[in-house]
Amino acid sequence: MTNTCFSELGLAEPLVRALESARYSVPTPIQARAIPLLLAGRDVLGVAQTGTGKTAAFALPLLQHLSKTRAEGHPVRTRALILAPTRELAIQIADSLATYGRHLKLRHAVIVGGVAQGPQRKALARGVDILVATPGRLLDLMNQGQVALDAVSHLVLDEADRMLDMGFIRDVRRIISAVPGRRQSLLFSATMPGPVERLAREILTEPARIEVTPEAVTVDRVDQRVRRVRAEHKRALLVSMLADPALARVIVFTRTKHGANRVAAHLLKAGIVADALHGNKTQSARQRALARFRIGQARVLVATDIAARGIDVDDVTHVINFELPNVPESYVHRIGRTARAGAAGAAISLCDSSETEYLRDIERLIGRRLEVVNDPHPAPDVSERELRSRPATKRRPRRSRRRRRSAAAA
Ligand code: AMP
Repeated sequence: MTNTCFSELGLAEPLVRALESARYSVPTPIQARAIPLLLAGRDVLGVAQTGTGKTAAFALPLLQHLSKTRAEGHPVRTRALILAPTRELAIQIADSLATYGRHLKLRHAVIVGGVAQGPQRKALARGVDILVATPGRLLDLMNQGQVALDAVSHLVLDEADRMLDMGFIRDVRRIISAVPGRRQSLLFSATMPGPVERLAREILTEPARIEVTPEAVTVDRVDQRVRRVRAEHKRALLVSMLADPALARVIVFTRTKHGANRVAAHLLKAGIVADALHGNKTQSARQRALARFRIGQARVLVATDIAARGIDVDDVTHVINFELPNVPESYVHRIGRTARAGAAGAAISLCDSSETEYLRDIERLIGRRLEVVNDPHPAPDVSERELRSRPATKRRPRRSRRRRRSAAAA
């Protein structure tokens, strides 16, 4: 159930299964937009920073293309080249490829400076499907005749603006000139200074431009609270909260489409006019629901993260996170639906014991603790102590720095 969103984007079963193990359930906005385009073979220009999920956005379609076109029994040739400005980023990308491609038989190698060339030469001689490289070392090995790029059909340039800052653009051009012109090309960059725009024009063919800028909302203008509650009491709590007429125009967020349907049906039964908005609804049903919400015919809109993208309704008084998002950036996007156009707004998150970790991630991203309201009714199933048992400063290693950066951006 949780992975329907990824499979709806057109990803094959082994990839969806790997994402499930990695506990990705909902695609991030850049993934939702880029994956279908990339699977269809388009070139893409992605204006996005680290922390948006851009790696999976390009890696998943890439793995899918390569696994479909791999000829069994033939020597493995390099068909994809991913260029990254730093060794750390290259290694991170390779880790992601290993995670997402765990059920596929594709080989990759990381070609970066600062380490011995021997093992890299050996890997190249054995044959790899995907090369993840920093420009300097790759050029070195190319000059030694160790690298064949003549079978490359997919090219990814990640963090192009940093390549520019680090003085790699000329090396990048040299490398790309060794790649066949018939290929799918992607360029990702957090910013688009002139030289990067020019490079993009040179290497991309009729690209789709996808921009994922950090939400402009000042998170600080939104009054944010957390209510601790048992999962099975959430619906009753939601209905009792909605007894307050101050909750005049409310978006309720769920993680899944089924969840959205269930909550909307429950509200209707309780006499509260609510519509569900999610990807399984037809375009016209979605537009109808939005229109009813906009003109106040429906007081509540129950939405999934993806369906809520781009919802632009003023005067949303409250955002209620019926379920906390498992991608913390989604929290910022969600609460950005309220407090628009200078208005005040409130966001209330219903947190059950299984969501404690999500709450941590959110607090880390926004860089502060959220006020937790103790709900006398119904009795919470998670103690304040449990909720606060791990300090927000204790970060999981791989995500930490990026999360902090995103927090600064938000
Ligand atoms: P990136 O922007 O590619 O560096 O990714 C940022 C972080 O988000 C990484 O730790 C990813 O593992 C994680 N991530 C990416 N996409 C998702 C998703 N759909 N669900 C959960 N986590 C994700």
